[in-house]
Amino acid sequence: MQPIPIIGVLALQGDYESHARALEQVNAQPKMVRTAAELEKVDGLIIPGGESTTFLKLLEREGLFAPLEKFACTRPTFGTCAGCILLAKRVTHPEQESLGVLDATVERNAYGRQIDSQIVTEETSLPGGPLEMVFIRAPRLTHVGSGVEVLASRDGFPVLVRQKNILAATFHPELSHAKSPSQSGSPDDLERNPDRRVHQYFAQMVRDASQALENSKSAQESLPVQTTVTNRQ
Ligand code: GLN
Repeated sequence: MQPIPIIGVLALQGDYESHARALEQVNAQPKMVRTAAELEKVDGLIIPGGESTTFLKLLEREGLFAPLEKFACTRPTFGTCAGCILLAKRVTHPEQESLGVLDATVERNAYGRQIDSQIVTEETSLPGGPLEMVFIRAPRLTHVGSGVEVLASRDGFPVLVRQKNILAATFHPELSHAKSPSQSGSPDDLERNPDRRVHQYFAQMVRDASQALENSKSAQESLPVQTTVTNRQ
């Protein structure tokens, strides 16, 4: 059995509590991250939704921008909504600074001010059929590079993408309900009936990356022994 991954949730603003609950539900151990020291102790990280400009200010204030940039280059990192904006290489409407680790262009508040929030159900390549997606003052991925895998789209634009260790969603997966035939017609209770496939997918990315790191460590550890043997011959 694979060990339980420790997944950080950047807890500077936004609904980090919901992400932490979602992670528990997919058998991962959530850990709130507010400092660079805390970031060093986690296997992967979720950057929740919120306001990307506020995130930038808080990251700067906490001295977290550079450590986060470094983390996202090497460890699994999942950005949702404002988190997705922070990960993208290019930000428009207006232009702003970002961590630049996802080869994509993202347009902020792209669905207009009149529609602040929208819930749609779309196909996804995650197992289990269509996924409910909650968009809140959402950005739009207007361009993604050729190395970016599109896992779900809305109106022809990617909304859930992966590039190696980076996962990004323009919606809020912590708010997705699962369809339940027994409750059809009534609004579902998120606590009783959440759809955790996106968190499940990310937790697996973290498990896989940790396993790969373990494998390369043990391969390196066996190297000096071989060298010594070779030298003696
Ligand atoms: N509109 C926000 C921004 O531009 C993102 C909204 C969200 O995270 N729900 O940063």
